[in-house]
Amino acid sequence: MNLILLGPPGAGKGTQAKFVSEKYKIPHISTGDMFRETAQSGSELGRKLQEFMTSGKLVTDEIVIGVVETRLAKQDTAKGFLLDGFPRTVSQAQSLDRILSDKNHKIDAVLSITLADEEVIKRLSSRRVCVACGASYNTITQPPRADNICDKCKGKVIQRQDDNAQTIRQRLKVYNEQTSPLIEYYTKEGILKVVDGSGSVEAVFKGLCEFIEK
Ligand code: AMP
Repeated sequence: MNLILLGPPGAGKGTQAKFVSEKYKIPHISTGDMFRETAQSGSELGRKLQEFMTSGKLVTDEIVIGVVETRLAKQDTAKGFLLDGFPRTVSQAQSLDRILSDKNHKIDAVLSITLADEEVIKRLSSRRVCVACGASYNTITQPPRADNICDKCKGKVIQRQDDNAQTIRQRLKVYNEQTSPLIEYYTKEGILKVVDGSGSVEAVFKGLCEFIEK
């Protein structure tokens, strides 16, 4: 089962991807997570990636597609995978189609989580994440029990560098201009399923599972 999770930043893709990946036993492939990991390494590429992310701009297709192609070549994707944060442009979607068709594979479903812009801004401004295990918190609805300390692993809980007001606005602009055309792209292919992301984490997960099991 080859799946894509689509949706604006803050729609809950990362949280839902973890649940889906656990339940259906398919690897969760997040380009954002991979880029953040490389950025932490302090390498030249890492510095470049951090610049793109901090400014809210998209990393170049050349870098992104190379990273995804290498990841999809790994054995653990043989029985399926869940892409989170990729593709983000029509040209990335076309490259993905090419990579998969070379292996006689295809995308089975694109799960699109929708969320209004105002809600995106509200959620991202109050989002906090654990640097160690990636657990997500929200200063208003779900703060960690102890200030800035992860409930699950006791790691440090921080605000992502790209979750500031200016970068959030830029990321939303990029989503609306460059990523949302994918909704039409995958609708035309007949594989787009839409789930309302404004509900609880459990309600959104239930909606996703219903589509996956169909
Ligand atoms: P995310 O964690 O998915 O919100 O991604 C964080 C940042 O990584 C984005 O704002 C982009 O700068 C970069 N990024 C992640 N995935 C992609 C992609 N498919 N294409 C281009 N840039 C990406």
